[in-house]
Amino acid sequence: MRRKLVEELARKGITDDKVLKAIGKVPRHLFIDDTAFERFAYVDQAFPIGCGQTISQPYTVAVQSALLAVRPGEKVLEIGTGCGYQTAVLCELGAKVHSIERHRPLYLATKARLEAMGYRARLVHGDGYKGLPADAPFDKIIVTCGAPELPSALVDQLAPGGILVIPLGGEDGQTMYTITKTAGGITRRAHGAFSFVPMLGNKK
Ligand code: SAH
Repeated sequence: MRRKLVEELARKGITDDKVLKAIGKVPRHLFIDDTAFERFAYVDQAFPIGCGQTISQPYTVAVQSALLAVRPGEKVLEIGTGCGYQTAVLCELGAKVHSIERHRPLYLATKARLEAMGYRARLVHGDGYKGLPADAPFDKIIVTCGAPELPSALVDQLAPGGILVIPLGGEDGQTMYTITKTAGGITRRAHGAFSFVPMLGNKK
């Protein structure tokens, strides 16, 4: 089933071999609290994971992972750990992952899950808008919730030459962007329309 999912992603236009291999390794059914895993785990769709949140669609995980262009050993910050599926894919790509989740129950459940699976990511319960200034700079930053605007703290925490992958837009849909930090500032590129749960601030 995992092999079929990888074939489907390749048919849908994912050409990054390393990303396809990583997705081929992660047992997605272990990230879904549902016993009927055949109906859900390896279908290219998003699903509810509790706390009103979702596990991202595999195609979306593949697109974001490919845009991030992770090299082994790079320090990556993820905003929106959720169930940890994207985190696991980043680990398989050889990244040193730091991931922030604002929902405490999800943070706790995912910490236990990833540890049990042997994935060594550093998970943090906190507000992704702030990033992790004490651990900056990051080679790459990936945001897996829809941000109404570009969080300036995340741009600040990006290493020179680093890439931030972020869906920007309101609750009715976002555009995927890559933000690259250059000597002169930042460059932005758009990569099509996506639909994420919203990135929430502390007050919401
Ligand atoms: N990466 C996940 C996607 C989870 S959905 C996957 O692989 O499936 C997005 C997650 O972002 C949700 O769990 C939500 O609680 C979290 N989130 C929303 N706003 C946030 C914020 N400000 N800081 C950290 N996490 C946030």
